[in-house]
Amino acid sequence: MASIRQKNVTAAQWSSNGAALGPVDLSQPSNIAFGENVFSLAVQRQRLPKDVFQRLQRTLYSGEALDLSLADSVAQAMKDWALEQGATHFTHWFQPLTGSTAEKHDSFFNPAGEGTALAEFSGKELIQGEPDASSFPTGGVRATFEARGYTAWDPTSPAFLLENPNGALLCIPTAFASWTGEALDAKIPLLRSMDALSRSAIRALQLLGDATATRVFTTVGPEQEYFLIDEQYFFERPDLVTTGRTLFGAQPPKGHELDDHYFGSIPERVLACMMDCERQLQKLGVPVKTRHNEVAPGQYEIAPVFENSNVGSDHQQLTMQLLESTARKYGLVCLLHEKPFAGVNGSGKHNNWSMGTDTGSNLLDPGDTPRENIKFLFFCAAVIQAVNKHQGLLRASVANIGQDHRLGANEAPPAIISIFLGADLEKVFEAIESGEGDPHTPGSFLGLGTPVLPPLPKHGGDRNRTSPFAFTGNKFEFRALGSSMSLAFPNTVLNTTVAEAIDELSDKLASAPGDDLAEKVSAVVKESYAANKQVCFGGDNYSEDWHEEAEQRGLKNLRTTPEALPELISDSSIAAFGHYEVLSKRELESRFEVLVEQYWIRANIEAETTGSIARTMLLPAALRHLALIDAADVSALGDEVRPLVDGLATAIKELERANHHPEGVEGLELAEHARDKQLTAMDDVRELADKLEKVVADDLWPLPKYSEILFIK
Ligand code: ADP
Ligand code: MG
Repeated sequence: MASIRQKNVTAAQWSSNGAALGPVDLSQPSNIAFGENVFSLAVQRQRLPKDVFQRLQRTLYSGEALDLSLADSVAQAMKDWALEQGATHFTHWFQPLTGSTAEKHDSFFNPAGEGTALAEFSGKELIQGEPDASSFPTGGVRATFEARGYTAWDPTSPAFLLENPNGALLCIPTAFASWTGEALDAKIPLLRSMDALSRSAIRALQLLGDATATRVFTTVGPEQEYFLIDEQYFFERPDLVTTGRTLFGAQPPKGHELDDHYFGSIPERVLACMMDCERQLQKLGVPVKTRHNEVAPGQYEIAPVFENSNVGSDHQQLTMQLLESTARKYGLVCLLHEKPFAGVNGSGKHNNWSMGTDTGSNLLDPGDTPRENIKFLFFCAAVIQAVNKHQGLLRASVANIGQDHRLGANEAPPAIISIFLGADLEKVFEAIESGEGDPHTPGSFLGLGTPVLPPLPKHGGDRNRTSPFAFTGNKFEFRALGSSMSLAFPNTVLNTTVAEAIDELSDKLASAPGDDLAEKVSAVVKESYAANKQVCFGGDNYSEDWHEEAEQRGLKNLRTTPEALPELISDSSIAAFGHYEVLSKRELESRFEVLVEQYWIRANIEAETTGSIARTMLLPAALRHLALIDAADVSALGDEVRPLVDGLATAIKELERANHHPEGVEGLELAEHARDKQLTAMDDVRELADKLEKVVADDLWPLPKYSEILFIK
């Protein structure tokens, strides 16, 4: 069996719940029992025989394959721990290309004769599982005749217990691959990209005179937005149930214009739900930290402290899962869709990203010595170069059908990828490029006057909320992710493309003439910044002017998912992913196919649902209303309503025609058909239906209205 990982997993990664970078220390007891449902490093230390514990850490550090006897000991300890906490089953918990997590539960108990059962769990079962995986999307990687996929334990993300009133489930974070070794999940490429970035960054650090770090790992801190609504309204809306968003709904008289919700006091039932969810997350070792109301009524946000990308990404999936399941206990439903309500702010997920060494330094922290400054400028220049070169790929990494309602809709960044550096940092780069700065600015950095960078503001006014990719003091914030998305792929893209840029800059640094490091770095940074600064933009990303300017600068503006997805298989994407062995061409093509298919399938479900609700619920309501008007013989009202009803009937027919897919059209072309024909026909139906909602008798209108769904808590 081919090794799923390329290589190298470190103890630092394993201890990502704490140790090297994250501020959370699992070994500290606390009254909320942080991490009590995690088979954490502390639990392992306590429960594994000393030599087994040490061998496991060593194996993880060196990235060698686990031998079976070691796995048997770990499995034994894990099982005993899980059973003591009430677990009856275990599962390999993985993230197939569906975007959500998958699990297949197996009981620990095996019949042992004479009507008894024995709890068993071997190293083999821990390391590898074989789900009947023929129904997971593969994009053609795996023909059905070789439908087997296998799951393999990821020891760098700790196992955990999911509690249920009737028992508990041991979840083993796992990678999922085809029998021939191709990645079929979101985790494998993420791990590979973390390894790639580490190798590139370590080489760069050595060139920059830092030989102490042995591993660099990427970090992620996501900010998750979501809606909570009363479940009664949810179940009365077939569109929400089927598609996760409302396909109809006139604007309520009161929207979020009053801004009385944002950061307002949290309604009691909602707060109870949040606290319950947070408690569960804390037990699972997810370091949740902040919560608040968001802009739209009924919208909230939850954010954890950052962790390494792999664990952070697993924890993000768990957070979404628990938000959804906990809401139900409180008679609420959590909506993770990017745009559940037209005309109301949608939900995104900010992805705070940085790189840190196993010696505890953050490579994107400007620091306050010239040495640190030099390192920072080098890595920062690499990020700028990566984002400029792979704009299209980054855009594609956040593409899904829900996002098409959000990106560029003046509530979220536009579909144009650009970087906000902040005025001070931009000045620094400009000064390096021009070789001159004024006496008050740092520009004069690097031999031209001021020896060090001024402190760059981490908080406060120098923030640009409209930028898709902003420097925020010691990290970059990729703000274009959708609320329902896994973090894995956008971070895979960031890690891989930045690894490539670091190597490109390192090559230049290695061959730069002279022996003054600061001067050499300055020259490399200068050249890179000059070539890539077109991607830096400090103004208002929502403005029309920016769209024009971006076009002049030659930046990509990929407005819809079908426009963005081909970037996944562009020459530059294939080259970068291939060179770093993160995703092969075949793996990339399979992802492209899966994402295209998901787009048109979801569009089609929305279109069919729109047609059915309009024809079987809304049109009849409108006709009943018209009958009332006719019976009362109020012709003025009839003249007003009749054209709307006629129009709706016609629009429904149009939509039904569009819902018949043309013969022989498939793949991207089908996605384009869905976008250009089905979604536009849906809009026409909706427009008339929403007008009718405002005139039809309230007791006849079959769908709960925005004014109810959004405001009744
Ligand atoms: P801000 O003022 O930008 O909101 P915070 O410190 O509150 O700054 O961080 C916001 C988010 O960024 C949090 O989710 C946090 O965990 C994350 N974050 C902070 N530092 C890092 C880092 N080095 N790498 C990744 N994410 C980080
Ligand atoms: Mg943010």
